Amino acid sequence: MKKRFAFLALLLAVLLLAACGQHEHQWIDATCTEPETCSICGETRGEALGHRWKSGGCTEPQTCARCGETSGEAPGHDWQPATCAAPETCAVCGETRGEPAGHSWQPATCTAPETCTVCGETQGEALGHDAAPADYWSASVCARCGEELAPALTPDFVAYGLDAHLIERGKTYDYSTVCYDDESFSTVGKASVTSYTVTPGDGEKLEVREGYSWHIVTFEIVFDDDNAYNYGISPDIAYEDYYDIRHHDDTMDYDDETGRSSFDIVFKGVTYRGIFFLENSYSGWSGHSNTWTCSFYLQLPDGYDGAVVGLIDGHNDWGDGDYVFDLDNSGSLFFRLS
Ligand SMILES: [Zn+2]
Ligand SMILES: [Zn+2]
Ligand SMILES: [Zn+2]
Ligand SMILES: [Zn+2]
Ligand SMILES: [Zn+2]
Repeated sequence: MKKRFAFLALLLAVLLLAACGQHEHQWIDATCTEPETCSICGETRGEALGHRWKSGGCTEPQTCARCGETSGEAPGHDWQPATCAAPETCAVCGETRGEPAGHSWQPATCTAPETCTVCGETQGEALGHDAAPADYWSASVCARCGEELAPALTPDFVAYGLDAHLIERGKTYDYSTVCYDDESFSTVGKASVTSYTVTPGDGEKLEVREGYSWHIVTFEIVFDDDNAYNYGISPDIAYEDYYDIRHHDDTMDYDDETGRSSFDIVFKGVTYRGIFFLENSYSGWSGHSNTWTCSFYLQLPDGYDGAVVGLIDGHNDWGDGDYVFDLDNSGSLFFRLS
């Protein structure tokens, strides 16, 4: 009995094998993960196709274009920080979110327009410096940024190497000038300042003007050498401006009736009109000595420090259009009022 079963089992197996050998395979198309497979016998041929992965962009995972299977996670956007002009932007897909940061404007300066501190973009114009021109007292300095744009001007007396003493009483200076009768001779006097007064005026000889004061400087020059005694004395004087010799001379106007001169003084940007006249006399000979006294009267704006009075070497001929710096001043004396 047992034997018979064994036989039947064997027979069935043989029959099945025979049937298989006879059928036509029914191929099912390959899929991403399975090769072509016979639906009857399960036989396969070829290879599975493999997934056809397609990027899902920033927000979707990779997806198989054939079977729809997904792989991994969505990568997410690669956000780049917002700039002045652009909002946060994905470096991969270009999607944006939020608003541009806007420029961080730094105010315009003298030399630079309004400028974004982040991106350097500019708008408008630089302000330009805010400075008065240089004068003899001050450099040209920008009121806004403090930059020195030009140094103070050089006074003419410095530029031309004219040595101006400050008024000092009690001090004696050699003053050399030509003799009156014979210009081939010179005499050297002893000059000193005997008084220097500053006064508003007296309303008579010295007119009172708001903002002006009279400066009265008196020199005594003692001539006691042989040449002075034998040939006489021919002194000369000058009234000058320490800062601007030309403007002073060019605006000088002599009034025949009063014997006084007037002239421009430009002092810290304001133009004033000064007045000048001279009084002088000789003491006459006393023995070998004669004293020449001369007083300079100057009406100057208050605080002005550029008036210069001079005892000029009379050897000089003041030619037409000559300024004091054109002369030979080796024997001259200049005193600056301050
Ligand atoms: Zn088959
Ligand atoms: Zn697939
Ligand atoms: Zn993105
Ligand atoms: Zn910017
Ligand atoms: Zn400036």
